This record gives sequence, C-alpha cells and structure tokens, in this order.
Amino acid sequence: MFLPLLPAAFWGDIALDEEDLRILSSQELQQGAANPKSQTGKGGKIRKVVKRRIPRAATSRAERIWPGGVIPYVIGGNFTGSQRAMFKQAMRHWEKQTCVTFIEKTDEESYIVFTYRPCGCCSYVGRRGNGPQAISIGKNCDKFGIVVHELGHVIGFWHEHTRPDRDDHVTIIRDNIQPGQEYNFLKMEPGEVNSLGEPYDFDSIMHYARNTFSRGMFLDTILPSRDENGVRPAIGQRTRLSKGDIAQARKLYRCPDCP
Ligand SMILES: [Zn+2]
Repeated sequence: MFLPLLPAAFWGDIALDEEDLRILSSQELQQGAANPKSQTGKGGKIRKVVKRRIPRAATSRAERIWPGGVIPYVIGGNFTGSQRAMFKQAMRHWEKQTCVTFIEKTDEESYIVFTYRPCGCCSYVGRRGNGPQAISIGKNCDKFGIVVHELGHVIGFWHEHTRPDRDDHVTIIRDNIQPGQEYNFLKMEPGEVNSLGEPYDFDSIMHYARNTFSRGMFLDTILPSRDENGVRPAIGQRTRLSKGDIAQARKLYRCPDCP
C-alpha cells in the first residue's frame, strides 16, 4: 500500500503533518521532544525544532471533519483474521453510539488504512484529505479499547488531558515524567480547542492513565483532583467510549437526536 503522507513528527501516539507543525506553538516542543524514543529508528528527518503554536483541536477545523461522518477504510494485508474482526468491532462500537459510519473504501479519495508503521500505535487527528492516511496498530496495541482510542483520533479528537482547562481537573507531576517525554503533557491554548461545551471527562477513552510516560509504574504523572466526596476519579480506561466521548462525537458530527 502506497502511503505518501509521512508524519512530520509525533505527539504521543498522534501523527502530526506539516500543517499541524505550522500551527504548533510551544517553545517546550524542542528538538527530539517531538519524536519520542519509540519512534526514533532512522527517523532523523522527522526530528525538528518546533516553536510554533499548539495545534488547534481538530474539532474546531471543519476540513478535518469527515463529510457526512462517513469514513472509508482499508485493512492492510498483514493482519490476522481475528485482528481484522477486532478492528471491525471497534468501528461498530463507534457506529452504534454515534452517527459516524465506516465503509469499505471503493472510489473515495480520502480514506484510512489499518497498517503497521514504525510508530507502533498512532494515527492522525481527523481527516487529512488527498489520499490514504495510516492508522497504525502495532503488536502491543492490537486491543479493542486501544483501537477505539486510535479511531477517536481519526474521528477528530486530541487527548483529553491537553484541554486548556485541564489544570482545573488534574495535576501534572513533572518530576515523574520520563525525561524527554514532557511534551506529551503540554496543553492546548484557550481558544484553540473546541470541546463543544462538554465538561472535562475523566472517563474519556481519550484520557491518559495516571502513569502514562511515567519513570516508574507506580509513579503518577497525571493526578486527578479529588471530587466533592474526596475521591480521585479513575482515568485512562480503554474499555469503551464514555458518555462524554459519545456526546462530544455526536456534537462534532451533528448527529440527529433520534437516530
Ligand atoms: Zn492517543
């Protein structure tokens, strides 16, 4: 499968293209930081200094929305029957609760390709246009919940903890972050992300776990604030879409109230 669009950089499991980089804004996103260890390899070309604006949420960019909520797909040849079945199950999971639909590609110009890339698990946010775009599902992430998460990026979502209002809901513990991975905890700038009025969602399948990019399994990198009962909400589930994920996707694609 010919996939001409190579990522310019990565932000966690999100592949960024040149257009994303043009609107990146952080002095913190420095050389190497835009290219986590797992994606190094021979990827010298994708190492670059990023000093621009944080990407807008795809949710505020109309051209990143799939027209009519229809996402054509191709499953690359190297997957087993059970992997293919699981990808379809993950697509059905989104379809059942939103008006987004996945169809097998016929003559559409823009479509997603389930494949395996050096990033392991990664995908672009929203529709890139002008041809195929990869959704990479590596060996360590061929699980239902992770595929649902990657499809969330395809549909148009960034990570929940990068919302500009996240500091009201979680604390980032910088000392516990693996050196070089700090950029994964940057947040979007106000006005650049459109969460469509939906409240911060600890339960989102797009939320990182407490120890994501941690120096040690038992060290928190993201600590949820306590609720009024003194309980810290759980974060990082990869089981199913949350109510908030469903509500936000339905708003993003203007799904009718009664499907
Ligand atoms: Zn992700």
